[in-house]
Amino acid sequence: MQLNKFIGITDLQDIDFSFCNYAMSKALTEFQEHLKQSRRIVALVGAGLSVSSGLPTFRGAEGLWKNFNMIDLATPDAFYIDPGLVWQFYSWRRHNALKAKPNAGHHALAQLSKVPDLEFLTITQNVDGLSARSGHNKNNLYEIHGSLFTLKCTSFMCNYIEKDNMKVPLTPALRDTEFEYQPVRRKRRMIDYDSITMEQTEELTDEVAISPQFVPVKELNEKDLPQCPVCQDGSLLRPGVVWFGESLPLQELNEIDDFMEGGPVDLILVIGTSGTVYPANSYVDRVMLQGGKAAIFNTDIDDKILRGEVANTWGFKGDGAELLPLALRPLIEKDEQ
Ligand SMILES: [Zn+2]
Repeated sequence: MQLNKFIGITDLQDIDFSFCNYAMSKALTEFQEHLKQSRRIVALVGAGLSVSSGLPTFRGAEGLWKNFNMIDLATPDAFYIDPGLVWQFYSWRRHNALKAKPNAGHHALAQLSKVPDLEFLTITQNVDGLSARSGHNKNNLYEIHGSLFTLKCTSFMCNYIEKDNMKVPLTPALRDTEFEYQPVRRKRRMIDYDSITMEQTEELTDEVAISPQFVPVKELNEKDLPQCPVCQDGSLLRPGVVWFGESLPLQELNEIDDFMEGGPVDLILVIGTSGTVYPANSYVDRVMLQGGKAAIFNTDIDDKILRGEVANTWGFKGDGAELLPLALRPLIEKDEQ
């Protein structure tokens, strides 16, 4: 029952303490005291949170898709040279993201986004749409790297954007390109009305054969790829994500700036990201300069932070899906009642 005192909560039964140690318990108590007094909070979310939903980080799994370097495919040049190849890569990414489910960490933030009288926003660097699908208030969710489920026109003259498009396949020619490996197809005997035995092909998605073969990359014509419904000349649509070498969306950044300048932010939650890369670091710095505090939830955290040696910064090492519901409990529990 020692822990009870440090954690500051009374019902211990349903909490898994396996990841708690003394330092973390102490940090958690201090963090929750600050959380309860916070009126303005920002959450900054990175790829680590989606790992718990089964989505690898971009640089994980050696960063390859069918022997292509993923980073090479996520560029404007790659799309210009071979839009068919890039659309096949994105078909696969859209399919993986749709298969994944928002985890308890996404849901905890979604609850926070709906707490009355709390000024809150989530800035996510993830394009997988999991925060949106967790029921997060869309008015205070900023997907600063875009979304796999947004399509936008490539024409400089056109600003057509379609959001929340979850269609698979996007065009008939992109059928099956969502699979990295050949899906197993099994013949099934069916009897038709004339009592003639027919064989039908049943598709068993995502079951991989013992010796998996890549689904071959198709050579696709531009006319077989998603087209802008507005442009007369049939401009291509592209994934609405921010590619390497592109700028972050100005309007979203401006709205985040407005929030940051609308009064001191009491607390920034840095989740599943090191917080040391732009723009994460700039937001953390701004909050700290205004007198706010930072809490980092990540599998990899600087030892100095974990030892409590960095001023106004707490570190919680582990899986955000497990840690966030526990850490945010003082605010989201209230919301449930
Ligand atoms: Zn267009």
